[in-house]
Amino acid sequence: MAQRKATSLQTPLLVCNWKMNPQSLREARALASKIIRAARYAPPASVLLAPPFPYVAPLHALLKGQRAVALAAQNSTAHEQRALTGEVSYGMLADMGVSRVIVGHSERRYIIGETDKTINEKVALIHAHGMTPLLCVGETKKTTPAKALAFIEQQLVRDVAGFDKRAHFSIAYEPVWAIGGSKEVDPSYAAHVIEGIHVFCAHHFSSVPRVLYGGSVHCKNIDDFLYYRDTINGFLIGSASLRAQDMTIIIKKIYGKR
Ligand code: PEP
Repeated sequence: MAQRKATSLQTPLLVCNWKMNPQSLREARALASKIIRAARYAPPASVLLAPPFPYVAPLHALLKGQRAVALAAQNSTAHEQRALTGEVSYGMLADMGVSRVIVGHSERRYIIGETDKTINEKVALIHAHGMTPLLCVGETKKTTPAKALAFIEQQLVRDVAGFDKRAHFSIAYEPVWAIGGSKEVDPSYAAHVIEGIHVFCAHHFSSVPRVLYGGSVHCKNIDDFLYYRDTINGFLIGSASLRAQDMTIIIKKIYGKR
């Protein structure tokens, strides 16, 4: 597999996607505090917490005084600010220190029914409001890296259509069949697909996006994925991001102790 050394120079990102967890603010604060402590030697804004919306403001307060951990949103609106019941504006997210927004997660695509058109609108709005989209892509069924890549290229074309070629964004490659916390995934499969995404992006964008991997990463398999650290520019973690012990091990393995 051809290696693209340029991308390995970027600090790896570690994004904790808490989904609809934990069930109380007390637990959210306790988990965040442990992750902040584990990440105290990590580079600025390299570890991102993506909590449910009600915890964004209290965690914003908790993160003050440290630089390693920053906030991401799990979702964002497809609308500019106006009278729209139930939506959260980009101005509010920015005011709470949100720097990145997860968009196109498979649970929103296939459970909520979000279309590429909506995802495309969100990507443009996230960017227009000075934040970085973390665009999730990935094939639904286990297949070959070549077929997975063909599927992902179609998603990328639709999801970033009309997007400024120089615009800054990141990608999370998440094979949908591998999401769930304990699925068997071959890291070399993930690395092959990510290598292909890098090549595709090099042809289509002038800024080089980081490409993260997500899908059943935990403290027991992180070393296998880190073997491909020249290709995989970080991780989007669901289930294991709710376990402070897992996160402590993963953070140490990725960033070491300086
Ligand atoms: C995810 O849903 O983004 C994810 C990576 O989940 P998990 O780590 O639980 O597979």
